Amino acid sequence: MSQARLASCLPLPLDQKVLVNVIEKAKDWALMHGVGMRDRKNFTKDSIQIAPFVLLPSPFPRTEFTKAVELQPVLNELMHKVAHDDDFLEHTLQNALQVDEFTANLYDIWVKVRNEGIAQSVSLGLFRSDYLMQHPDGNRIKQVEFNTIASSFGAITSHLPAMSRYILRQLGHGDMIKNMPENRALSGLCSGITDAYDLFGVPTAIVLFVVEEVSYNICDQRFHEFEISETRPEIQIYRKTLNEIYEETELNDKKQLVLDGRPVAVVYYRSGYEPAQYPSNREWEARLRVERSTAIKCPSISYQLAGTKKVQQALAAPGALERFVRGAASVRVRDIFTGLYALDFDDSGERAVDMAIADAERFVLKPQREGGGNNVYGAEVRDALLRMRHSRERAAYILMERILPPLVQGYVVRPGAPVPPPVVDLVSELGIFGVIIGTKDKIYSNKQVGHMLRTKLADANEGGVAAGLGALDSPYLLDM
Ligand code: ADP
Ligand code: MG
Repeated sequence: MSQARLASCLPLPLDQKVLVNVIEKAKDWALMHGVGMRDRKNFTKDSIQIAPFVLLPSPFPRTEFTKAVELQPVLNELMHKVAHDDDFLEHTLQNALQVDEFTANLYDIWVKVRNEGIAQSVSLGLFRSDYLMQHPDGNRIKQVEFNTIASSFGAITSHLPAMSRYILRQLGHGDMIKNMPENRALSGLCSGITDAYDLFGVPTAIVLFVVEEVSYNICDQRFHEFEISETRPEIQIYRKTLNEIYEETELNDKKQLVLDGRPVAVVYYRSGYEPAQYPSNREWEARLRVERSTAIKCPSISYQLAGTKKVQQALAAPGALERFVRGAASVRVRDIFTGLYALDFDDSGERAVDMAIADAERFVLKPQREGGGNNVYGAEVRDALLRMRHSRERAAYILMERILPPLVQGYVVRPGAPVPPPVVDLVSELGIFGVIIGTKDKIYSNKQVGHMLRTKLADANEGGVAAGLGALDSPYLLDM
C-alpha cells in the first residue's frame, strides 16, 4: 500500500543531544501537568506515569481541521435526531440484535423504559467525531466513527498545546506556535455537565461519574472533577462503578436516583460501553435503574444506540442521512462518509461479502463494539467473511472501506521506552468534541468544544492510547 507523506513540522532527525535533552524536559512537563496514566503493570494509586505522546505536533491541513470543527454542531444534531427517531433505530438495529447480545441488552432497556414512560426527556451528549485523512482523496477527512459514550482524552489533550508550545520554544522554534490551535475541550465538556445540572434544577443534587473498577486513564477523568470543582464549587461529584450503583442507589417515589440521600442530577458514563463492564446481572440492573430515573444521562441509552457502528452504516445508505439533515448541510456530511456496507442476508449484503472477499485489503470489518481492538483488517477480513458467510453472526458486523491516511515522521515518547526513540512513520486521527443538550423537540445547547489528535505507528491497525498503541498529539495546522 503506497501512502504519501506530509512533511513533519521540523526537519528530522533532530540532533541526538538536543533530542535527549528536550525529551527529558517534555516528560517532566507531561508528568507535572497530568499528561499521565496509571501504570497497568505495577498499578498503584500513588503515582502516574507519562501517557505516550508525540514529541512534535503532527501536521494537519488547516482547511480540513476547520471543516471538522464547523461540522460538529451539524453532527451533534444529526445524532440527537437519530436517537429520537424510534422507528429508524428499531429498523436499523433489528438484524444486529438477533446476534449481538450486548446491543440487545441495551436495546431491551431502551424499549422497557419507553414503555414505562420516560422520566427524563433531556439528554446530555458529550460526543467525539473521529477522522482520518484519506490520502488518495487529497488528504480530505473521512469519518472513522462517531462516539456517543465515554468519549475520552478531552481533558488531557486540552493541556497538549501548552506542552507543544513549551517543546517548540525549547527547540528555538517559538515562532511556530501560531500554527497550533488552542484546545478548550475540557472546559467545554464540563460546561455540558454543569449546564445539564442547572437544567435539572435541584440545589441539593449531585453529579455521578460511572467508572471502571480500576481507572488507568485517571487524569482524563479527574480533570473534569477538578474543573467543575473550581467553576462550580457547590456541585459534588461522586465516582461509582455500576456494581456500586446497584448497591448504593435507589429510585424514590419521584423516580429520582438517590445516592447518599441526595438526588442525582447528571450521570456521566466513563464505563458501560463494552460487555466486560457488565460482568453480571447487577450491572445491567444498575443501568436500568439509572435509565428509569429522572437523572440526565450522558449518554441516554438512545444516544448510546445511535452511536453504534450499525447506525453509522445505515446513515450512509442512499437517502438515510437526508431524512435527518437537509440541503447543503447534508452534502457536507455525506462528503465525510466513506464506503459503508451492511452484511445482512439480502442482495446488497451478498454483494458486499463478495466484494470484501475479493479485495480484503480495501476494507475493515467492524462489530458493534466500542473501546478499540475489536475490528478485523487485511487478509483476516477475507478469513472472517469466509467463516461467517452462511452464519447469522455476520449481521453483527459492518463493512467499511479502509481509509489510507498520509504518513508523517515523528518521535513517540513512551513510558519505560529507551531514549532517544527512533524516527518512525506515523498516522494521525483527529477527534472533534461536541456537546449537545436537548429533548426530542427542543435543543438547549449545541456546540463544538475542542479537539484531540491521536497518532499511531503507520503499520498499526489501531491506535488506542489507553490500550498502549497510540500516542497523544496536537495538530500543527498547514496551509496547503
Ligand atoms: P472503536 O469503537 O473500537 O474505537 P473505531 O471505529 O474507532 O472503533 O476503530 C478503531 C480504530 O481502527 C480507529 O481509531 C482507526 O485507527 C482504525 N480504523 C477504524 N476504521 C477504519 C477505516 N475505515 N480505515 C482505516 N482505519 C480504521
Ligand atoms: Mg474509535
